[in-house]
Amino acid sequence: MLRGLNMDRQLLISSLIDYAGRNHRATDVVARTSGGALVRSSWGQVSDRARRLGGALLGAGVSQGDRVATIAWNDHRHLEAYYGITGIGAVLHTVNPRLHDEQIVYIINHAADVIVFVDPDFAELAERIAPQCPAVRRWVRLDADYEGFLAEAEAVEAWPLLDEWSAATLCYTSGTTGNPKGVLQSHRAIVLQTWATCTADGHNVNSGESILLAVPMFHVNGWAIPFASAMSGAKLVLPGPDLSPPAIVEWINTEHVTLSAGVPTIWLSTVQHLQRTGQDIPSLRRIAVGGSAAPRSLMDTLEDDFGVFVAHVWGMTEMTQGSSGRFTNRVEKLSRDEQRRRQAMAGRAIFGVEIKVVDDEGNEIERGSGAPGELLACGPWVAGNYFGSATESATSHTSDGWLRTGDVATIDEEGYVTIVDRAKDVIKSGGEWISSIELENAAVGCRGVTQAAVIGLPHDRWGERPLLLYVADEPVDRDDLLDAMGAAVPKWWLPNDVLAVADIPLTGTGKIDKKALRQMFAGHVWPGRDPDSSSDSGSAKQ
Ligand code: AMP
Repeated sequence: MLRGLNMDRQLLISSLIDYAGRNHRATDVVARTSGGALVRSSWGQVSDRARRLGGALLGAGVSQGDRVATIAWNDHRHLEAYYGITGIGAVLHTVNPRLHDEQIVYIINHAADVIVFVDPDFAELAERIAPQCPAVRRWVRLDADYEGFLAEAEAVEAWPLLDEWSAATLCYTSGTTGNPKGVLQSHRAIVLQTWATCTADGHNVNSGESILLAVPMFHVNGWAIPFASAMSGAKLVLPGPDLSPPAIVEWINTEHVTLSAGVPTIWLSTVQHLQRTGQDIPSLRRIAVGGSAAPRSLMDTLEDDFGVFVAHVWGMTEMTQGSSGRFTNRVEKLSRDEQRRRQAMAGRAIFGVEIKVVDDEGNEIERGSGAPGELLACGPWVAGNYFGSATESATSHTSDGWLRTGDVATIDEEGYVTIVDRAKDVIKSGGEWISSIELENAAVGCRGVTQAAVIGLPHDRWGERPLLLYVADEPVDRDDLLDAMGAAVPKWWLPNDVLAVADIPLTGTGKIDKKALRQMFAGHVWPGRDPDSSSDSGSAKQ
């Protein structure tokens, strides 16, 4: 091999905060603490305080590779922890506070965290679980306690030059089945995925943006946006615990937010709020939506009524962003309807994450054939295994190393992905598949329906049939709803029963909690006649 003659510089997270601290010192980082205080910080201050935190952690005996957890909302201190912990070579373990106590105890013990930073909102939680977490040496409250921890310390003068393969962040998957699994990202993987996030085909994070982070920093590292904002020197707005529509609209208008990101439920409720109040969000140009399927009606309203472009992307804890929501030059020239059809899909293939769908035998399904299969992914920032489970990859990965995502999908000729369902949520009726996601999107497109969830329940004749649960802001006639949905999906897919509910349970990361719904409606009795019995169909082939 003739070796290239470049410098041997490792890809390290500390280089991101060094860059922002030096070149974008005065750029705002605005935060709201859980106590309600508005804090105007800057990349310069975040950089300085992260160094001080690094020094404090070293003083507390934290070594390279040690795991240090956060149980916190999006604010400036949490951002400092992102950089202070990883900068010294310790591992940032972001804990989702919305999990049950037992799950939090499980992951803290599994990770063997040595220090835990806790938002004052979760002080009680910390007190409750501390006796069950013997490896934790210190719990630091993110208030005066944290400030004291920093004040005692000498700031790190220069961040250590780590190996780029050193572990940097640890994030556990939502664990809807079995125990949560830890995704351990290296510095190299984080820097590479952050670069992808900054590209125009990624989230196009750049120095001209004011970004509202409506994704919790405990969900997939806030989709890499806390890192990408430093890499680009963008203004960052960290909203604290309040992600209600009025708070989101206020942030957008007071901080002149141009770009935001979050799960569809946040944007669906924000749009309803805007429509109800007649408010506008003129500064907002783009949002990235993902984490679960975004209905086309959301893109239509946001773009037509509010001038906001929706980049609909797919991703997972195992890789962060896995697709691009930006139109290609060719798609730019198509009609609005053709563009929206693509926008409603879950993005298209992006450099850095290879994707393919395979059949039951593991053979690749030709792109554009329309046949769904299991979606596999592979790439330099895709998890190759899970933390502390040497054997897990035997089931989570194929024998040639591709990650089995657990999503059922199709990919078209241009690389656009359509997520048919999570493998465990797809409804198997009469031997054929019904997509719960498509049914939900069809329902949300109907007048009055603000949220919808579809689950499969056992059915004597067809094996499984769909039950639709919906939340409405005005009375909805069942037959009108089914008629309207019938225009969007095959008739034999239509739900066998439709129930209005007061709310739909969400998981800790804001997705529909189908496991909880299946438990809640386990004993549901189907109405006497199937709505589709006139055509005697529970399957396309009947
Ligand atoms: P998490 O690791 O919690 O982010 O969950 C990842 C899962 O969320 C994926 O495997 C998908 O099932 C789902 N998901 C993410 N983005 C989308 C999307 N745009 N459409 C449908 N499902 C999605």
